[in-house]
Amino acid sequence: MQAITFQARGEYKYQTDYPLPEPEKNEVVIKVNQCGLCGTDAHIYNGEFEANFPVVIGHEFSGTVDSTGSKVKNFTSGDRVTLNPNTICNKCEFCRNGKENLCVTLPGLGVNSDGGFAEYAAVPERCVYHIPDRLSFAGAAFTEPLSCALHGIDLAKINPGDVVVVLGSGPTGLLLAQLAKLSGASIVITTAKRKKRLEVAKELGATEAIDVSKVDLLQELDSALDGKGVDVVLEAVGSEETMKQSLQIPKAGGRIVWFGVASPDLEVPVKPFEVYRKELTIRGSFVNPYTTQRAIDLLAENKIRTDKLITHYFSLDKFDEAIDTYENDDSRIKIMMKP
Ligand SMILES: [Zn+2]
Ligand SMILES: [Zn+2]
Repeated sequence: MQAITFQARGEYKYQTDYPLPEPEKNEVVIKVNQCGLCGTDAHIYNGEFEANFPVVIGHEFSGTVDSTGSKVKNFTSGDRVTLNPNTICNKCEFCRNGKENLCVTLPGLGVNSDGGFAEYAAVPERCVYHIPDRLSFAGAAFTEPLSCALHGIDLAKINPGDVVVVLGSGPTGLLLAQLAKLSGASIVITTAKRKKRLEVAKELGATEAIDVSKVDLLQELDSALDGKGVDVVLEAVGSEETMKQSLQIPKAGGRIVWFGVASPDLEVPVKPFEVYRKELTIRGSFVNPYTTQRAIDLLAENKIRTDKLITHYFSLDKFDEAIDTYENDDSRIKIMMKP
């Protein structure tokens, strides 16, 4: 079958002779309909995120069940499905304490074992979820990113009426901004440097989308909010600039959620006195504990819009173009790979 395999840092291969997966007894083989290209994939490609090479990457996919192992009970061929790609060990102290997103074996499919940039993928049954007919395969491919964004939103503890700032308007920032609105935020301000993303943020309901390539963010926030403080900052870029900004924005009692994937070596200065005096909360948010079904429900009920996020489709043999578009095309938001 066709597959994109990562061989080492910066090295990938488009293969047409990759072996078809056979289901183990607890596995479901999914015929992949489409699979999102994620920032994590780019981080793996650039050597900033560890992976178990060689591996078929891609962890944001949807499709139909092709075949099932002998012990699989809840799925049969033809079922429309998506997945939570994170396979856990069920043995470590985190798994045993209700913190499966911190499992020592994470992450799973598409990073440490074969994922969805292929025609077929074998997935443990416990990771597979049915999707309703009214949810498109394209929408369902957002299940994993949305489930991660949901965890970040859960940690942010947004109250109705809160003022929320989302730093960054990539696919994740745009999901977070929509979730913040759904959570009852009265004002959601987003930031971006690219025209397309500023437009889409507004279309998806941002109160204001600030072009940080042109204006000073703190000054602009001041005038946009007319002296009102910011309750929650959701950082969804991972850059030094945005990490620093996230610390400067919230009012006393504010919450900061670091969602963006920063380089492992990045350090940013924190003023402990300010954190103390303002009782700031700084939280990291990692993957998607117990949020997969909620993500599917939100997508199925059209509470979260994904149609405006998909800007490009590529077939697997065009992975070169997909990577080039990911890195260089200003109009790019979400790229889908379609076998
Ligand atoms: Zn992802
Ligand atoms: Zn574990």
